[in-house]
Amino acid sequence: MRPSLSGLALAAACAHVAHAQSARATRPALAPAVRQFVQVDTSVLALTHVRVIDGTGAPARQDQTIVIRDGRIASVGNASTAQIPAAAQVLDLTGKSVIPGLVMVHEHLYYPTGPGVYANLVESFTKLYLAGGVTSMRTAGNMNGYGELAIKRSIDKGEKAGPWIDATAPYLEGPGLGLGQVHELADAAEARRMVDFWHDAGATSLKAYMHITRDELKAAIDEGHKRGMKLTAHLCSVTYREAAAMGIDNLEHGFFVSTDFVADKKPDVCPGQGPGQAALAAVDPNSAAVKSLIQDLIQHHVALTSTLTVFETFTPGRPVPPGIDVLDPIVREQFEQRYAATQKSTRSVYATLFPKARQMEVDFFRAGGTLLAGTDPTGGGGVIPGYSDQRAIELLVESGLTPLEAIKVGTLNGATYLGRADRTGSIVAGKQADLVVLDGDPSARIEDIRRVSVVFKDGVGYDSAKLIASVKGKVGLF
Ligand SMILES: [Zn+2]
Repeated sequence: MRPSLSGLALAAACAHVAHAQSARATRPALAPAVRQFVQVDTSVLALTHVRVIDGTGAPARQDQTIVIRDGRIASVGNASTAQIPAAAQVLDLTGKSVIPGLVMVHEHLYYPTGPGVYANLVESFTKLYLAGGVTSMRTAGNMNGYGELAIKRSIDKGEKAGPWIDATAPYLEGPGLGLGQVHELADAAEARRMVDFWHDAGATSLKAYMHITRDELKAAIDEGHKRGMKLTAHLCSVTYREAAAMGIDNLEHGFFVSTDFVADKKPDVCPGQGPGQAALAAVDPNSAAVKSLIQDLIQHHVALTSTLTVFETFTPGRPVPPGIDVLDPIVREQFEQRYAATQKSTRSVYATLFPKARQMEVDFFRAGGTLLAGTDPTGGGGVIPGYSDQRAIELLVESGLTPLEAIKVGTLNGATYLGRADRTGSIVAGKQADLVVLDGDPSARIEDIRRVSVVFKDGVGYDSAKLIASVKGKVGLF
């Protein structure tokens, strides 16, 4: 995410701005609060001599030219034969790569800033997500009610900088969490009312949580589907198998929160995160029981979201996560103390669970399951938007996916799940120009995914370094 576009001829960009605005009748004019981060904005743009990693899993194509017209990809082809319109602004991207904008599905607009405290950080997080290459995201759980729907609308109207957001309703959860920000459902009828209410308020997605009952979950899934909303869950009280049979669309956290292997699991009761994880840590990933659960999820078309980034922060022996230097100093110090304590831990279940659950995610993917990626900036902190989205892709490669497979999980798979593959998620003529320009070649060295220079959303190029600089040292305050 270092600034690195200095070699590009951008001086001409400003002259095109007025023309570009008039050409885009369907897209809102960008407010000054957004425009300050815009590096490239022109109605006809050619990205020349660039390596294209298109998000479909196909091999990287060298020396390509992408023509963008009015925010959409007009053509992609060999640079030697590409037709560049006379009016185009040309950016020579020799040595660089372009991947689709990331489509990440376990994101949040809040962060743990103290014990039991989740601060709403909509202003800094939306900028960090965009800076890290995320052009579309789902908030997998909402702790800010109308606030999260409002920021989504502000971004759509061009008033604020950030990704397109699939805005999730407040959590569907039963009694047991003990967090004042999260409502406790009384019964299935209330689950239906909550789905209806938040749908009408503008939410487009649903998330159930650890203490929901089977009746409430089933009611929420059915009511959501009636209204065109998909439902995902971080389960505990309900097993993965039970939820798959009910028609759930997606499960969060890979297999890390499955209670399917708890021997004396009582229906509708969460045995607690500890017993669930202890049972999972004791399981043989190659056993018939695990293979059968994987097959069951695939047969029911349940997508699985990998969130290795948050679990990495719980696991001893893992590197300091990227991006913590953007945090407010006090919030950063809290995380560093926790990180140090994690390293000293000799009895952490994650020492066993982390490698095992990763293998299960890869096995699910290899068996044909739909794997999605997200980061979950919660836990005990240290999962920083943007930076952790890149880290999530790196961790999938470390787990056993190829770089091209991992990039597809973080782009086209997310777009397909969200029902937006017709407009984003891969680099194909006709789609929105949601693109990330990277130094180097992430198809060969996945860590190059961190080397973001410009992020195009709807054909407008945002300066990654500028977005980060605007919040650096203050993340935790706003
Ligand atoms: Zn989460």
